[in-house]
Amino acid sequence: MNKDRYLVVVSAPSGCGKDSVVGAMRAKHPEIALSVSATSRPPRGEEQDGVHYYFLTEEQFMAKVEADEMAEYARYGSKLYGTPRSEIESRMENGQTVVLIIEVQGAARIRARYPGALTVFLLPPSMEVLEARLRGRGTDSEESIQKRLAEAQVEMAQAPLYTATLVNDDLQTCADELYRLICEHQGE
Ligand code: 5GP
Repeated sequence: MNKDRYLVVVSAPSGCGKDSVVGAMRAKHPEIALSVSATSRPPRGEEQDGVHYYFLTEEQFMAKVEADEMAEYARYGSKLYGTPRSEIESRMENGQTVVLIIEVQGAARIRARYPGALTVFLLPPSMEVLEARLRGRGTDSEESIQKRLAEAQVEMAQAPLYTATLVNDDLQTCADELYRLICEHQGE
């Protein structure tokens, strides 16, 4: 139970800048580890296998689920995403903070399996800002943007289930706040 406090879940609608916030925090605090997830979706842009994700076929992914190698997994859109236990458990045992950037169903499963984890939901300053960020990314089709915006509303309804919420208005401020929450949580 005690080791759970080293686990940190960060969720946010896509386009809310969760990777940037965690990246900015880790730039200042490189001792904090980031869990690399497995997914059945294909790589986007410059994404590399084993760095951004472990890219698996649906069959390979489900074989890992069957073998109880996943701490949590969920279907998001039509694709599977999951946290390999090998990314988190030895780090938690060693007292190293490890961050999972995952969607809301996975966060609920982490909460059930590791009840002492810190869970943080990042909110965009407004829906308009979120839409502008999604378009600015230039990686998604219009259909995909509309789907992600609808999904964002559903995900944001889950924010009260998290230990804390932070508004990602200014990147560095949000990153510093996240670090402060982690310190507070682990000091308990
Ligand atoms: P994307 O395809 O944009 O990289 O990710 C889509 C969503 O899946 C994001 O909300 C992302 O945080 C989430 N995600 C990434 N890895 C995992 C994981 O290991 N487990 C779960 N449940 N969600 C994940």
